[in-house]
Order: sequence, then structure tokens, then C-alpha cells
Amino acid sequence: KKHILEVKNLKVSYHTYAGEVKSVRGVSFYLDKGEALAIVGESGCGKSVTAKAIMGLIKGPQGEIKDGSEILYNGSNILKYNKSKWKEYKGGECAIIFQDALAALNPTMIVGKQIAENLMVHKQMSKQEAAKEAVEMLRLVGIPEPEKRVEQYPHEFSGGMRQRVMIAIAFACDPNLLICDEPTTALDVTIQGQILDIIKDLQKKREVSVIMITHDLGVVANIAQRIAVMYSGMIVESGSAKDIFYTPKHPYTWALIQSVPRLDLENKQTLMSIPGTPPDLLDPPVGCPFSTRCSYCMQICREAMPEATEFEDGHQAACWLHHPMAPKVDMPDFRGG
Ligand code: SF4
Ligand code: MG
Repeated sequence: KKHILEVKNLKVSYHTYAGEVKSVRGVSFYLDKGEALAIVGESGCGKSVTAKAIMGLIKGPQGEIKDGSEILYNGSNILKYNKSKWKEYKGGECAIIFQDALAALNPTMIVGKQIAENLMVHKQMSKQEAAKEAVEMLRLVGIPEPEKRVEQYPHEFSGGMRQRVMIAIAFACDPNLLICDEPTTALDVTIQGQILDIIKDLQKKREVSVIMITHDLGVVANIAQRIAVMYSGMIVESGSAKDIFYTPKHPYTWALIQSVPRLDLENKQTLMSIPGTPPDLLDPPVGCPFSTRCSYCMQICREAMPEATEFEDGHQAACWLHHPMAPKVDMPDFRGG
């Protein structure tokens, strides 16, 4: 299968007064056509920075994509694109949905016009055609009375409806690649589910490849075929959704799964939050980045970075527990949820 996107050894730093913050420290992954990949981790783990790099949104002089990083879109490195190639890619190939739809939308323009503009640019529609199609786009994302709603401004929509408008705008470009950066984080649980269903539905209908970025593993269970778990600027585990939920291999993934709120519990409380804080990326540790919070930490964990161990079918985790010489420990059993 041909990868639509392949990220190889991506390194992104931010230059601050305090020094160089190494936000993304050698991230590699791929995405196949029509597939949904989730990138999951706590805030500050580098997942949004990774998304920004793919969208060409890392800006100097503060932001820097390090030499040796590659982002291959259909085999060509977007980091080497000239201006006109970038324009083509960012407008027509790749779209992004952010958490904060209100900030992303133009507050002074009716939503119909914002959708129509994209249709005119990317699908070469006339003004009249685009205006008509904008109504259909709102209908497609489940906004009631679309003929009336196209005439309204972003502030006249609820949070959930506004996120639907964002989805309509993103799909108006007819993208091949859709990046969703915490698209439902600001919404209540029922609305979250509706928005995820719309994204999933459109992904299937339009054969879009999706990268879903979230801090909440609960969000990705129904949408992602594969999951990459990020910690401290690195992917510490990746595999199929089944691998990650049922046979996770990395202690950080174990902790993440145990911290997903369980709806079967009466008060929907978080079962466990992960004690401690992620390492300072101004001065990352030489060993395993999770060593300061890991209850399985051994001496070697603080001294050397664990290499990725490969399990079946592309499932991999970077943890010393899986080294053949490591002492055997009782790992939690996640089978059966
Ligand atoms: Fe924990 Fe060591 Fe594995 Fe890191 S390498 S996750 S510290 S056991
Ligand atoms: Mg973020």
C-alpha cells in the first residue's frame, strides 16, 4: 500500500529566551490513503507541533524544523516545496480543523461566504454555484435549516454548530488529507460524539486520510485504525487501535488507558491521573523520557534511551521492559477492556 503521508525523523525546536525547546525529537510515522491515524498524548507532548509542521505552520525565527527532517506527501518532501507548490498543497490537498472554531472563522463574514470562497478557489465554481453548494455543505454536516444558516455570522452558532461549519469549510477544499487538532475538546460529551461521527462519515464518503490529534484516548476508539502515543516529543508506542487498547506495551500507554474516564462509573470521574509532570524540553533527559514518572523504572532507564521493540504487525514500543535482558515484571492485563 502506498503511503499518502510519511513523516521521517521530524525534529522541531522553538528558540526562546531560555534556550532551545526541543518540542519534537525525531518523530516518524506514516498514513495510508483513506486511513485514520490518531496521535495521542498530554498537552505539550509535541502532537500539535507535529500537525503544524505537516500544515506548513512552523514559522521562523522562533520555530525551526531541523535539517534531516522529512515530510513526504505522495512521495515528495513538502519541506522542499516552493511558494506555488505550497499554495497548491495547503489549499487543495490538506485541510485542518482546530479546537477553537471561533478563532479560526472570520467573525465579520457570513458562513456561507466563507464556505463559498473555498469552493470558488479550489473547485473553480462560479459565485452562484458556490453559494448553492455552500447550502449543501451545511446540510451535509447536519446543520438544520441550512438555507437560513448560510446567511448568519459565526457568533450566531453554538460551539458544536460552529465546529460543523469548520468541517464544511475544510471539506469544501476537497482535501486528501485532513488534520483534526483536538476538534471536540471544547464541547460537551454528547456533542463530541456527534462531531466525531460526522468526521468519520465524511472520511468514508470522500476517502480522506485523517490525522486525529487528541489528549483523550476515549475520543479515538471509534474513529482511528491506528494510534501513535506521543510523550515528550517522541512516539513511545504505535500500533493498531486494537493493539493499543488491548495489548499496550508501554507504561505511559498503560497510564493513559487507566486515566480514560469510564462512563460506567457513576460520577464519570477520571480513574487515575498520571502523577508527576513531563520532562523539561529545554533540557530533555538522556534516558527514557518517562523515567521520572514510571513505576517500572530501572537503573538503565535513566541512563540510556530505549530503542523501539517491534511486536506483531507493526506494533512497536520504546521501553526497556521489552529488552531480552530485562527482568520479568507483572504487566497489567488490558484484555477485555
Ligand atoms: Fe518505564 Fe523504563 Fe520503560 Fe521508560 S524504559 S517506560 S522508565 S520501564
Ligand atoms: Mg495542542
